[in-house]
Amino acid sequence: MPDGLRIDLARLRADLEALGRIGRNPDTGGLDRVSFSDADMEGRRHVQGLMEEAGLETSMDGAGNLSGRWNVGKGPVVMLGSHLDTVPDGGMLDGALGVLAALEAVRTMKEAGLAPACPIEVIATSEEEGRFGGMFGAQALAGTVTPEWLETARDDGGTRLADAMRAQGMDPRKALDAKRPEGSIAAFLELHIEQGPVLEQTGKPAGIVTGISGVFNWTIRLTGEANHSGTTPMDMRRDAFQGLADFARQIPELIAESGSNVSRLTIGKVSLEPDFPHTVPGRAEFTLVARDIDEAVMQALADGARRRIAEVAARHRLDHEIVETSWLPPFPCDGSVIATLQAAARSLGLDAPLMPSGAGHDTQVLGAIAPAGLIFVPSVAGISHAPGEFTEWKDIEAGANLMLHGAMRLAGL
Ligand SMILES: [Zn+2]
Repeated sequence: MPDGLRIDLARLRADLEALGRIGRNPDTGGLDRVSFSDADMEGRRHVQGLMEEAGLETSMDGAGNLSGRWNVGKGPVVMLGSHLDTVPDGGMLDGALGVLAALEAVRTMKEAGLAPACPIEVIATSEEEGRFGGMFGAQALAGTVTPEWLETARDDGGTRLADAMRAQGMDPRKALDAKRPEGSIAAFLELHIEQGPVLEQTGKPAGIVTGISGVFNWTIRLTGEANHSGTTPMDMRRDAFQGLADFARQIPELIAESGSNVSRLTIGKVSLEPDFPHTVPGRAEFTLVARDIDEAVMQALADGARRRIAEVAARHRLDHEIVETSWLPPFPCDGSVIATLQAAARSLGLDAPLMPSGAGHDTQVLGAIAPAGLIFVPSVAGISHAPGEFTEWKDIEAGANLMLHGAMRLAGL
């Protein structure tokens, strides 16, 4: 085991900065490589060139996933990577870091003359960020994309996914062919920025993710009675906003009673009717998005929220309705991949604590078809999806070395 092997940070940094110039908005400094845009495709072609320079066999599948394969050893591949698309006006590390660190890890192994027991593939997935719903490329690899969905998916501006792909010379039906055969991926490893403040605040260079939070989305409607704000006595009102405020105030209690230290409950969107300063609101509609790493805790939070909403409605003489728009269970990262990453961190003398992920990643989709693991590096000030997204270079180096040594162990080195 070549314990002393390290990635070349100067080369990785140069790659990140070069890719970070593709799709850059000169006014904001942010990146616009939204999926299937010209800049997204230019970024993919650029990375394809880097893969070829490194001697990898490259291809792009029908979903736009770019693959660079090191054909050594035999059997199922160890797959390393992340996504290349960005949100509008995003940062230069979200996604790109995981792809370029994977490429750097493979280059480092090749230059050291190592002979992995199995092929290693660098993957750059498409449409992770959600222009058309998100994690499209990973879902195509996992075989969960349906022909109906391919035809109906649209972005916020009404552009169809199928048309956006055709505009780039792709045949959307070929996305169905991107599915990987069962058992063809031995393990998947992703390096990603944390996009939160925890690692930076605790002074750790990297984290090993235990799982990705599950999430449920509710729309809640409280209905009372709209009335004149001057003539309706306070004790005779059926004020829907008072009900909303009463429930919102109880969220910390709800988490203390039924949640955990990684529970996250958010009321992010609120609308009132009639939404007029001089009228008691007759109707309040709001969203509740709840996350936790444990599905039993999610269930307890949902039960507690239902009970409290019913109590609030009764107290303010409101009707209430709860519509659950989605329930996504938590995704546990693979135990043996976590143990492999912990062993790799120990060999590097790296203090990389176990931690959950509050945000979704390709890892959870590919985890359905392969044992999957996820490494985090700190996000300065917790900023992401914004031009100010940054990670200290020494932390990028630590995370990339953890990816290298994790991959080496998974590939029998
Ligand atoms: Zn990302």
